[in-house]
Amino acid sequence: MRQSHLSIVILGGGPGGYEAALVAAQLGAQVTVVDSDGLGGACVLTDCVPSKTLIATSETMGMLRGAAGLGIRITGSAGPAGAGNGTGAGDTAGAGPAAGAMGSGPARVDAPRLYARVKALAQAQSADVAARLAAEGVKVIRGRGRLARRAGDHAVVVGDQEIGADVVLIATGGMPRVVPDAVPDGERILNWRQLYDLDELPRELIVVGSGVTGAEFASAYQALGSQVTLISSRGRVLPQEDADAAMVVEDVFRRRGMTVLGRSRAASARRQGDGVLVGLTDGRAVRGTHCLMTVGVVPATGDCGLAEAGVARDDRGFIEVDRVSRTSVPGVYAAGDCTGVQMLASVAAMQGRIAMWHALGEAVQPLRLDHVAATIFTEPEIATVGVDEAAITSGRVRAEEVKLALSTNPRAKMQGFRDGFVKLFASPRSGRILGGVVVAPRASELILAVSIAVEQLLTVDQLAHTFSVYPSLSGSVTEAARRLMMPARREAEFGEPT
Ligand SMILES: Cc1cc2nc3c(=O)[nH]c(=O)nc-3n(C[C@H](O)[C@H](O)[C@H](O)COP(=O)(O)OP(=O)(O)OC[C@H]3O[C@@H](n4cnc5c(N)ncnc54)[C@H](O)[C@@H]3O)c2cc1C
Repeated sequence: MRQSHLSIVILGGGPGGYEAALVAAQLGAQVTVVDSDGLGGACVLTDCVPSKTLIATSETMGMLRGAAGLGIRITGSAGPAGAGNGTGAGDTAGAGPAAGAMGSGPARVDAPRLYARVKALAQAQSADVAARLAAEGVKVIRGRGRLARRAGDHAVVVGDQEIGADVVLIATGGMPRVVPDAVPDGERILNWRQLYDLDELPRELIVVGSGVTGAEFASAYQALGSQVTLISSRGRVLPQEDADAAMVVEDVFRRRGMTVLGRSRAASARRQGDGVLVGLTDGRAVRGTHCLMTVGVVPATGDCGLAEAGVARDDRGFIEVDRVSRTSVPGVYAAGDCTGVQMLASVAAMQGRIAMWHALGEAVQPLRLDHVAATIFTEPEIATVGVDEAAITSGRVRAEEVKLALSTNPRAKMQGFRDGFVKLFASPRSGRILGGVVVAPRASELILAVSIAVEQLLTVDQLAHTFSVYPSLSGSVTEAARRLMMPARREAEFGEPT
């Protein structure tokens, strides 16, 4: 590893920016991070970390709701024993009676305490990022920065300061998209960044948009005790995801009492008295106490001086980059949500690191999106890695697949849930594992085995011969590999697809 003497300025202190800063500092560069809203970025302060903290509480509510089914009687519990936990049969979400404290069964959510915990945890995480950057000698400037023209090198302007740089990385992230007739007011019509400033849980929450963010919040608030209506413009929730997985989640949503309105496009959201009225394009209207808009992310690239510097953007404003994060301007790189490549913290961080390795002359492997592991934190979770079913059905990838329902897994029975499955895709010729989908509680943890298999080019035989614990949910991963062994072997030996 060579030590660099280049100067780097990074616009944005989210995962795209701060992970890049750490790599560049370790390589000896002089690094300055300019950030306007707090280190850790939207990821830590308003988006990923707060939503997953909220979901930790909603998961616990789900467990409490299923406690009776596992033979636990909680003092003061009025309800009869149910058939399972949060993803099992017999779930019903109680519309909570009181503002501020809601829930079903024996437990009530204390909204002010929940939101205070979410915000404190985000601040603590942001402080950890700040401490880590300080320990590596990274200079941090609080403020909005923009690129400036300068002969010879690049420069970033923050207030009345101009900082020269050999290399600039733009990692300014994104912002919630706003529908003109449904502008958030922070009280009744909300975007996901405004939820934690409420002093109550929404009694009747209308979630507009059934992509990942909409589905996660709909799932969480239903478990916390809100009566949720999910408005989806497509035929099913999570239209971009594995269809079998989306069907399981939608089925669980409906069974718990959520209203899912498919093929329904929201045109407007207006305050009406103490509540909100969401108008649909077909003329129907949905009433609730609150409305959460989750209709996508737009790039935060507006006032960064990109046009003046000649940095090319696509027609939606996302910065165009190649697989080593270069923009159209030499010496200017971009990473994370502002590039629109794949809006995940892990991808933003990897793009940022790759940018620095490339800029500082290190050996670098271009970004590989086909190995990205991702999770949708609904209940149950959906975790995916590698090729997907759509690639197989369209004929782009040839693969064998097997799908094992978790309802027959002994650990799942013991824990009282039955919704979910493990799906594996493998090459029929080589037996190599090409991808997989896990739908289960904590699928985000279970997917690692499949992710390692995909990354390390393992075959179904190798995974099938790997020990899993008995009883365990991961036993279904190795069992799925065993079921795939025979087709792979047949084609390898006889050259026939099965
Ligand atoms: C509700 C929600 C939940 C999510 N959950 C997950 C999850 O579970 N897992 C996952 O991997 N991803 C998740 N994501 C996606 C993840 O949050 C983003 O992909 C990630 O934040 C992108 O990081 P970034 O560095 O590009 O930008 P950000 O995290 O948005 O950081 C950008 C920073 O730049 C600052 N900035 C903007 N303009 C300027 C300027 N001109 N000058 C200085 N600073 C500027 C911003 O204020 C911000 O601090 C979630 C997203 C949402 C909306």
